[in-house]
Amino acid sequence: MVQRTLSILKPDATDRNITGEINSMIEAAGFRIVAQKRILITLDQARKFYEVHKERPFYGDLCAFLSSAPSVVQVLEKENAVDDYRTLMGTTNPASAEEGTIRKKFALSIDKNSVHGSDAPENAAIEIRFFFSETEIVG
Ligand code: ADP
Ligand code: MG
Repeated sequence: MVQRTLSILKPDATDRNITGEINSMIEAAGFRIVAQKRILITLDQARKFYEVHKERPFYGDLCAFLSSAPSVVQVLEKENAVDDYRTLMGTTNPASAEEGTIRKKFALSIDKNSVHGSDAPENAAIEIRFFFSETEIVG
């Protein structure tokens, strides 16, 4: 089934000017980028977006990082997009990421790990709505 997922190219990626290289990997893996914009995520938005992690010790640093510099938020479309993008990203900690994944190639550390991808179809729908209106998504 064709699915959509939310992707974020995080501040460490915009900072190093590698968003094009990451997008090349995304497109080469068969995803269509059906919506995309470069935004500065506010601290309030970051707190809301990562609310599921609010009890974790890294929550404060995570939200500060996400709002520290521009991000590129995207909607990706493909068969099985949610799981396939998680596979393309690689593990949260790049130290254990597989060869050929975005995080293996580009992530600097567990916190500066270059990309976000939704972890389930229900969350993808919520996360896409968080950043995009229907008219901004052109499949
Ligand atoms: P993922 O981004 O792979 O879905 P999580 O949802 O578990 O990972 O965590 C969200 C983000 O929080 C991660 O991408 C990473 O930037 C950060 N993070 C997760 N675990 C840690 C940790 N132990 N220390 C620091 N940052 C972390
Ligand atoms: Mg996650």
